Amino acid sequence: MSSDLHTACQTDTLAGRVLHDTGVSVTECYQCGKCSAGCPLADEMDITPSQTLRMLQLEMPDLDEEVLRSSTIWLCLTCEMCYARCPKEIDLPKVMDALRAESLRRKVANPKARDIIAFHRSFLDSIRTCGRLYEILLIVAYKMRTRHLLQDLLLAPKLFVRGKLNPIPELIHGRDHMARIFARAANKESQ
Ligand code: SF4
Ligand code: SF4
Repeated sequence: MSSDLHTACQTDTLAGRVLHDTGVSVTECYQCGKCSAGCPLADEMDITPSQTLRMLQLEMPDLDEEVLRSSTIWLCLTCEMCYARCPKEIDLPKVMDALRAESLRRKVANPKARDIIAFHRSFLDSIRTCGRLYEILLIVAYKMRTRHLLQDLLLAPKLFVRGKLNPIPELIHGRDHMARIFARAANKESQ
């Protein structure tokens, strides 16, 4: 059995789960550190991108949990700088995405990520409902989730005047297709 296939069968390890969900094998990383050197958020992260991969490679439950509890996975912007620099073409943004999903699934997301998670969910609510971003729904859903009710309130009139906030949502055709995509994603997430 190849080492990748072996790992793919071991979805009880986080590396195996990542391979299963994304097709990315963390064992390919040879720790050159180029991803961390180019990451614009590395200084803010509690674990750098290359350290994250090293921890996954070790396949130890404590380290797996530390990764899932880290702020790193929520700070990642999916800017793809690491992917562009990686000599092994490891798709780290995809790995980060899978780690975020797993962190939520196991209910161990970093408390500092509360607002980021609220934003992700509010953004998806808007897409699920309208088929595209509807800024007012995003803002209302985000504020309700975070209770930051007064934050940036004075910006709203300026945004209205500049036409950045449309009071009437633009709905796409084929929202039933969108609903099916969400249903499929939810189904996959529960597996
Ligand atoms: S750049 Fe690629 S090979 Fe180098 S440490 Fe980062 S992920 Fe690993
Ligand atoms: S995609 Fe994420 S980990 Fe990669 S460079 Fe951008 S912020 Fe850093």
